[in-house]
Amino acid sequence: MPAPPKPRKIVVLGAPAVGKSSLTIRFVEDKFVDNYYPTIESSYTKVVKHKNQEYALEINDTAGQDEFSILNNKHSIGTHGYAIVYSITSRDSFYLCETIRDKILNYTGTDWVPIVLIGNKCDLEGQRQVTKEELAALGQKWNCSYIESSAFSNTNIGKAFDLLIAEIEKLDKAS
Ligand code: GDP
Ligand code: MG
Repeated sequence: MPAPPKPRKIVVLGAPAVGKSSLTIRFVEDKFVDNYYPTIESSYTKVVKHKNQEYALEINDTAGQDEFSILNNKHSIGTHGYAIVYSITSRDSFYLCETIRDKILNYTGTDWVPIVLIGNKCDLEGQRQVTKEELAALGQKWNCSYIESSAFSNTNIGKAFDLLIAEIEKLDKAS
């Protein structure tokens, strides 16, 4: 008998308009939706395979509109892993990632949580404000996975969630 899917809860966080909904919907429904309601927080489920094990992912696409509502305490309750998203076309959205992670660590009272840091909109190379080197430096500083993606051109979306599952597994193995 194959092992039953492991339920894992993921929260997608980041500044407004970086593409949180677009990449979530691309991942779950394999389509690109322009102008998804920016203020609506939704949950999605998807079963994926990672290293021969199935995972039943519950993905919470958050919709906070300012620094204070982006991450609530409730977002960290029962959460296994975090996708922290910025847009490579917005330096401010990159800076906000540090604030978001600090808040998560504050809520969880730990010094490490499973995170994939995602630089979305990598199809917009001409509008780039954040370099790949800066992404790598922050990912290494956090000791987490990091990747550039595009929900629009369907680049590295599945890979980003797969990296996050691997991060979640690290914690499962350690405990
Ligand atoms: P959210 O507020 O973080 O959920 O952002 P949305 O998913 O609503 O996306 C905000 C805007 O950016 C929309 O106009 C999307 O069509 C656009 N967008 C999202 N992801 C991408 C991407 O990978 N490339 C490009 N070019 N546009 C994107
Ligand atoms: Mg959204």
